[in-house]
Amino acid sequence: MNLNSNDKLIVEVSGTKYVFNFQKVHSKPTTKLGRIAEKINQNGNDLETEVTFDRPAIVFEAIHSYYQTGILHIPTNICPIAFKQELEFWEIEPCELTGCCLCKYISALDEFETTKKNKSKNNKI
Ligand SMILES: [Zn+2]
Repeated sequence: MNLNSNDKLIVEVSGTKYVFNFQKVHSKPTTKLGRIAEKINQNGNDLETEVTFDRPAIVFEAIHSYYQTGILHIPTNICPIAFKQELEFWEIEPCELTGCCLCKYISALDEFETTKKNKSKNNKI
């Protein structure tokens, strides 16, 4: 199947439908949606294929923008640790985060690990 720039991939998350440019998703083959796009492409399925996920929509906004613009930010009202879990689910590498949010992500992760260590130390006492 030849990809057309008008082809769409529709992803429903928590009841909200997000329309993706099929080519843009297909161009990120290591991500979960990229793999799905590849499968649809190989099967020669009808375009405007819809896939459904039960994941937090608030985080998915950022994922959607990432496929649109190639830039990944952490939404301001999202805990970076929660965002990490979603990145793992969508199979997007944290290194895709843009500078501003990569710093936020790394320092939040550091803090989290330190707190966790201190907690387990305290529990032993
Ligand atoms: Zn940012």
